[in-house]
This record gives sequence, structure tokens and C-alpha cells, in this order.
Amino acid sequence: MSILVVGSVAFDTLTTPTGHRDKVLGGAATHFSLAASFFTPVRVVGVVGNDFTTEHEDVMRTKSIDTSGIEHADGLSFHWTGSYEGAMSEARTLGTDLNVFGTFAPKIPASYADSDYLFLANIDPVLQLQVRQQMPNVKLVAGDTMNYWINDHRDNLLKVLRELDILIINDTEARLLSGEHNLVTAAKKVMELGPKSLVIKHGEYGATAFFSDRSFTDEQGTPSPFRAPALPIETVVDPTGAGDSFAGGFYGYIASQPSLTPAVLRKALFYGGVMGSFAVEAFGTERLQRTTREEIEERFRLFVEISHLDSELKPEAR
Ligand code: AMP
Repeated sequence: MSILVVGSVAFDTLTTPTGHRDKVLGGAATHFSLAASFFTPVRVVGVVGNDFTTEHEDVMRTKSIDTSGIEHADGLSFHWTGSYEGAMSEARTLGTDLNVFGTFAPKIPASYADSDYLFLANIDPVLQLQVRQQMPNVKLVAGDTMNYWINDHRDNLLKVLRELDILIINDTEARLLSGEHNLVTAAKKVMELGPKSLVIKHGEYGATAFFSDRSFTDEQGTPSPFRAPALPIETVVDPTGAGDSFAGGFYGYIASQPSLTPAVLRKALFYGGVMGSFAVEAFGTERLQRTTREEIEERFRLFVEISHLDSELKPEAR
């Protein structure tokens, strides 16, 4: 089933210990869409400027991503400048030029109206809310945000959180949002703000899903937290977009399934990890552009293997 995603479509200027790139195609919605497109149809809502060419749009179109909801405005596209040091676990933002996003008022094309899944990717919470309000009948709403919006646009962000079935953020964001250091306490506090379920990404260490008692439940009641590791990756070139690619794999897999069960959600965490692992292997969207479905399944198998998820691994009977 189709996912409608709203978020930044951007150019990124990136410096990592492995090199530098000026204004490469990026943005939360771009990384998300590319990753999710391997699993399910994706439709994008966003805005770009005169610097966004047919060639850029074709990166999405060749993956059958519907770009008819990307508005072309006069001006420059969103531009993010970031750098990473050492283990590259944290991005340092050096510049955020909203440009055409500064005056953007999202309009959902009529052809997007039957989308069942909504993803509010990282962008101004005001825009996330406007899109949510235009899509009142979706089956599931998930979303993401970042420190910039948590720190400086908190009141608007709180309104978005109340709308979410699933929030997908990283450890730093969970701590910032809740004011708590302990991750379990932080998760509880974040879910009190609205999201029914919460996925916390731990970068190179995997991700954990937490559930509130308003989450979907299995026969036993509210499912317990579930953690998936990350694949140890030898070639880490640029972590930009890893979080969005994780979200794309995670939500794309969920949207491809007939219903959301705890088993589907657990498997989705693994697909999220697989897509994140590809994203970091080259600058910007380069690696996702040349990923194949076969490679994804191959990595999924590897993932299961390194997680020792076989039937022999059971606690000792006492
Ligand atoms: P991540 O997956 O967390 O590495 O997200 C990286 C992407 O987020 C980059 O491609 C940026 O263009 C985008 N980005 C950075 N800052 C913002 C912001 N304030 N709002 C929306 N998107 C952003």
C-alpha cells in the first residue's frame, strides 16, 4: 500500500573524515523515499527551487517514486551543511538554509488522497501538521524530527507528536525531548507526549522499539520492548541519511504487509537496519541509488545470522 511522505528535499554540503561533497542531492524525504521504494509505492510532498533539475527528480522517478507532489518554486532548494568527526556518530549542523521551504504551504495532489500510510519526515512541524490535517483517514501515521525542531520549535512539535502512531528518533533526540538520561524512562516520557509506539535508533548499535499500552497489542497484551542490532559495516563513508533510510526500510516494509502485528514490526526493524547500512557506504544517496532488492535480502539474511535468531538459542530450562 502507498506511503505519502512529506519532508525536506534538499541539497547537502557534507564533510566527513573520508571527504567532502558540495550540494549533493539529499533531504529527509529523499533518503526515506529511496529506501521505502524497494518495498512499496511512495508519493512525495515537498518543495524544491530552480536548482533542482530533471536529473535530480529522475533519481526518484527511476525508482517509481511519485514526485507529482513536489512543488517547483522560484528560489533555491533547502540546503543543509553538516560535518562529522571521528566515529561519525553525531552530525554537527553548520548551516540550515530553509530557502523555498520557508514559505511553503503543502498541497496534496488529488491522486495522493487514497494513501493509507503517512510519514511525516524531518521538516518544520508546522508543515508536518498541515499535511496530517489534509490526510485525516490514513491507516497509520509515523514521523521523525531532529534537535533543531525539538530545541527551537517545541510547541509546534508537541502538536505533531499527539498525532503519531509511531515516532522514530535517535537516542540524543529522545533524551532531548524527554529531559531524561535513562533510555527506558525517556521512552516512557516521550510516549506520554502522544506517540503510541516509539522506535529509538542507536546509530551503529541498532534500534529499540518501545510500546505504550495504547500501542497495537498481541494476544498477551502490550508487547515488550524489542531491540534489533545493527550490521557491523566496514566501509562507512557518510552517515547522512542513515536515519531516514532506516525509517524508509522500516515503514516501507510495514506498508507492504497486510496488517501490523508485533512480528511485522520486529522484522521491520531489521529491514530498517539493512537500509541504514547501505546508506552509510557512500556520500548522499549514491549507495541507495544502486542498491538492488537481491542485495537487501542478502543483507537481511546476514543480519538474522549475526543476531543468532535461530531456534537453538533458547534460555536454559530450569
Ligand atoms: P539523517 O537521516 O538524520 O542523517 O538526516 C539527514 C538529512 O536531513 C539530510 O539529507 C538533510 O538535508 C536533512 N536535514 C537536516 N536538517 C534538517 C532540518 N532542520 N529539517 C529538515 N531536514 C533536515
